[in-house]
Amino acid sequence: MPVRRFALILFTSVFAVSTFPGSLLAQPAKKNADLLVTGGLLVTMDASRTVYDEGAVAIKGDTIVAVGLRKDIESQYSATQTIDARGTLIMPGFINGHTHVPMTLFRGLHDDVTLDEWLRKYIFPAEAKNVNEDFVRWGTRLAAAEQIRAGVTTFADMYYFEDAVAEETKAAGMRGVLGETWLDFPAPDNKSESAMIAYTEKYLQKWQGDPLIHAAVAPHSIYTCSRKTLDDAAGLARKYHAPILIHVAEMKKEWEDSKKQNGASPVQYLRSIGLLGPDVLAAHCIFVDEEDRKTLAQYKVGCVHNPSSNMMLASGVSPVPEMRAAGVAVGLGTDGPAGSNNDLDLMEEMDLAAKLAKITKNDPLALNAKAVVEMGTIDGARALHMEKEIGSLESGKKADLILIRLDRPNAVPMYDVYAQLAYALKGSDVQTVVIGGRVVMRDQTLMTVNEDEAIAKAREYRKTIAASLGLP
Ligand SMILES: [Zn+2]
Repeated sequence: MPVRRFALILFTSVFAVSTFPGSLLAQPAKKNADLLVTGGLLVTMDASRTVYDEGAVAIKGDTIVAVGLRKDIESQYSATQTIDARGTLIMPGFINGHTHVPMTLFRGLHDDVTLDEWLRKYIFPAEAKNVNEDFVRWGTRLAAAEQIRAGVTTFADMYYFEDAVAEETKAAGMRGVLGETWLDFPAPDNKSESAMIAYTEKYLQKWQGDPLIHAAVAPHSIYTCSRKTLDDAAGLARKYHAPILIHVAEMKKEWEDSKKQNGASPVQYLRSIGLLGPDVLAAHCIFVDEEDRKTLAQYKVGCVHNPSSNMMLASGVSPVPEMRAAGVAVGLGTDGPAGSNNDLDLMEEMDLAAKLAKITKNDPLALNAKAVVEMGTIDGARALHMEKEIGSLESGKKADLILIRLDRPNAVPMYDVYAQLAYALKGSDVQTVVIGGRVVMRDQTLMTVNEDEAIAKAREYRKTIAASLGLP
């Protein structure tokens, strides 16, 4: 654990001397902050991966203004609100790079079937009969409660009625990259292409410049969107400088069909039509060869690995170590939550990402604990093209941070903080969550979501969804 103790002590004394040359004893006036988080084991995930044994973070508005040793930060800043973080681990909030949050209401509807059967027999009929704006709102609210509890502060979503997802995400105080899904067949929200374009354009206009919500366009995949749909989606997104979210090379059949129909892999097909770029977030990227990995790096496409989903659906294994070696930014996602996970706990994905790489390569060194913690934080931010805003605790970045309890049996003893985070600590150990300087969970009590109401509503939905499919 490199500790920058000496540099900060030096900086502090220089500051004191130069501000008050006449008296070394005089204390400089403290600077104002809105929130101080002090006293925990601080894992910054900055470029040198600095860890402070007893650190602190000063926050003004939605931004971090200082990060360092507790005694230095406390001597320099006073704040209206303080969180005593002693006994906890402070780190950047987790980034869930790929999910479909309203599908929480379909959690466990039917599992242990093939993707094709699950989609055809259960999810498409269930969506056609049940998904409306109200469904999306309650599903998102439930997911917000679940994600905040697990320390997720930013998530990337692809679903329908995404404007309602955005409103609920904003109300929960979470950060979201939220893509309205485009398909070639009628969706629960938009029944025609013109309706889809009109809805999405209005949606992109509405959220321009919002501090928490990044409205995006999500052409579902190359196997559900024609060339025209992909072109139109990319064109509209780029008109508004909005991110493009898409599933890429997630199934063997998708790769085989693309080879047959386009004479190219999914990645090379997307490159050839001009869709790839530094505004693209590609979920899965399982069937990507060396040339594809080079292309993804060259076009600065962000990729999201979803180990739970890939294992549950037996889709295959993304070559994550090779992608990282090629310079691709690879984050982590839960996917699902229905049929392919079934929860929204990113710490579980960190654990599984490391273990899946190890077992597939028959090499325990294939992907280590530090790498998967990077994927859950700073590399997730890079994949979302938001590394200037989030992903690490540094002055000037958004104040998205979490406190994790270190007083439970599974937290002790600790020899390596990254190994503890990847393999021992759980989402349920998250104690307090701050997003954009706002405390959204304090001591495991949610402040922005009425959790009881969301849970009760989910149980009600279970009855109507089951009845709509003729299930008990
Ligand atoms: Zn997905």
